Amino acid sequence: MSHPRSRSALGAEAANEFGSRNPLQPGFVNERVSSRVADVVDSEPHDPRQELGAAELRILYRKEAEATRRVEARPGLWIAVAIYLLFSAMDLLLIPDVAAYTIEARFAVGLAALLTLEAQLRRGVGAEWLDVTCAAAIIFGYLGWLCPTILSAEKESVSYYMVFGTIFMMGANLFFTFRFKLSVVTSAIILFLLFIVNYFVPSTPTYKLILAIFYISCFTFTSYVNWKLNEERYNVFLNALEAKIQHREATERGKALLRLSRTDPLTGLENRRAIDEKLRDYWSDWQKLGAGFAAILIDVDFFKKFNDCYGHQEGDCCLIHVANALSDLIKGYDGSIGRYGGEEFIVLARMDKKDQVADLAEAICRTVENLALTHELRRDGISIVTASVGAAFTRKQSGAKLEKIIHEADRALYLAKASGRNCARLFDPTDPQSSDESENLAALLKIAIGQDLVSLVYQPIQDVKSGRLEAVEALMRLKMLDGTLVPPSLFIPVAERTGAILELGRWAIRTVCTELLAGDHVRVVSVNVSPIQLKTPGFAASVATILGETGVTGNRLAFEITEGLEMEMHSDILRCISDLKLLGIKIWLDDFGTGFAGLSWLRLIDFDTVKIDRSFLHDCATPKGMAMLQDIIALVRNRGHKILVEGVETEQQMGLMREYGIDKVQGFHVGRPIPAANFQAKRAIQKRAFPVLKSA
Ligand code: C2E
Ligand code: MG
Ligand code: MG
Repeated sequence: MSHPRSRSALGAEAANEFGSRNPLQPGFVNERVSSRVADVVDSEPHDPRQELGAAELRILYRKEAEATRRVEARPGLWIAVAIYLLFSAMDLLLIPDVAAYTIEARFAVGLAALLTLEAQLRRGVGAEWLDVTCAAAIIFGYLGWLCPTILSAEKESVSYYMVFGTIFMMGANLFFTFRFKLSVVTSAIILFLLFIVNYFVPSTPTYKLILAIFYISCFTFTSYVNWKLNEERYNVFLNALEAKIQHREATERGKALLRLSRTDPLTGLENRRAIDEKLRDYWSDWQKLGAGFAAILIDVDFFKKFNDCYGHQEGDCCLIHVANALSDLIKGYDGSIGRYGGEEFIVLARMDKKDQVADLAEAICRTVENLALTHELRRDGISIVTASVGAAFTRKQSGAKLEKIIHEADRALYLAKASGRNCARLFDPTDPQSSDESENLAALLKIAIGQDLVSLVYQPIQDVKSGRLEAVEALMRLKMLDGTLVPPSLFIPVAERTGAILELGRWAIRTVCTELLAGDHVRVVSVNVSPIQLKTPGFAASVATILGETGVTGNRLAFEITEGLEMEMHSDILRCISDLKLLGIKIWLDDFGTGFAGLSWLRLIDFDTVKIDRSFLHDCATPKGMAMLQDIIALVRNRGHKILVEGVETEQQMGLMREYGIDKVQGFHVGRPIPAANFQAKRAIQKRAFPVLKSA
């Protein structure tokens, strides 16, 4: 490694180079240097003068200069010969007596020089030999003109004409781009010849002295300019090399920045931006070439819980492990993997057969599971990290859009989560949950309130002991534009997925308050509330506003929360529930026994009433089913909650409820869901009959 050098030091090196003999042989050494230089230019960006030694730089410069001289030799000599021949006119004018000889000599030397050079170029000889030919052409050109000229009888003309000898000197030093040494040797020979001629030319000593000084000055100055030109050429070479390296550096830096902007800093996978670009490429290949592909979304199950339990650092490690494992798996497929957001990854893979996609999706699931990363605190009995996987693949359909495939994969992922997580689901266009029908529903839900397509019906809840109407449950109904009813089992999940449930939920609470509670038509109404609503900041405040605006007190409302599969006991939900309780609203647990989180929910939340799912009552026909119902009743009772059994359809079941001391019942035997108008009418009759009674 050489030391950094200043530009003037380099100039000095260059000067040495021009004056000294080449210490290194061309060929092998030059190749070695070229590859070294290529390494420096191609590798990490650096100052070439720090990276390459002076000798290496000189060799490289010489190589480049030779290439330039090789190119310039032909036009240079042709122009020089042309001018040389044109000077024949001067011969005819100044020395007509010997002009025939000088012109002959000019043509002879000019032709010989050009033929030699062309032959050399054809044989591919080195630039050094081309220079020698040009230098010889200068010397012989001078001699060829000089010899016949000095024999001329026009002595005075000859004495002046001799001055033109300096043109040959200038040609050697300034016109051709010889190496410094060759220029100086050539011009020195010309100088020597000029001196000889000057000695013999018949003129006064003063004239001879002036010419001699002129010749020496001409030699000195042209040689000096030649030196400076060579030095300048070397500097230009260095600047060009530096510029090349800087260009390389800028390109490298640009590439690094681009890489950075496309990489997820945590996992090192491609980020969303990069994967979106890839997706566009895959999509255009599918559109143009018919090359199908799969889009697979992967979501780490209960990752928020993992972060809460083990901390964010462990959370990051978990994501890195998952990313590495998936990336290894994808190597076996023609695919790409990226981090799509928080704990979500995406895989794109070229394949279009359903089975292949299903296999890959399943393999992804198993890969994460096989990592066996501990996740003790999830509430579904699995104590390791798992992932839910949703896959979609290209298929011929009208109006195909790029976003659609991701949307479909997203829906498949939603289904995978709803199916208990740690599983893979493939988008199935025939499944109503994931079909276009659900798309239509999503659109319908957006306009449902405005177009009066949504309504509430109320199902009575009876107090078993007194037989009185204890409360009613508000159940939402949706009709399509043509009046066809859509069952809640279809539209509620869509509303939850799209977020439409937030507006619908607020609308339901307001409607319950205005339709039944404000007019005291019933004492208590229970409203089904989705966990998504509870998770949304400001939900409790919006309920308080509705209560305030309708003049209804909170204790007239009960909110039914279903222990659905999607539910993770979020701290936000707990906070919201306690805020709702402060408003006086009762919290009921709906469909108890159907989800896996029920028991832990019982532990965390003080429910006023627990509604036992109707499936337990309907299974009572068998002794096993009966025992199960009894166990559940005992469990809930021991926890101190009121018990409501859903789905009472027969008198026999009603009898059983009385026998078991159940608090409340609901079901077709008690009453089917009916519109608010029925309760309003009933209350009006009661008021007329018993005007003093305030409530039912
Ligand atoms: P859910 O809250 O458990 O509501 C009870 C469901 O059981 C209702 O079905 C009701 O019609 C039905 N049912 C009542 N008695 C009987 C019976 O004796 N036998 C049988 N076989 N069924 C009975 P529906 O109205 O179809 O509601 C289904 C589910 O949709 C509800 O289950 C609830 O989870 C959801 N849902 C309904 N309205 C709303 C709402 O306004 N908001 C939210 N978030 N969910 C709602
Ligand atoms: Mg309910
Ligand atoms: Mg229920």
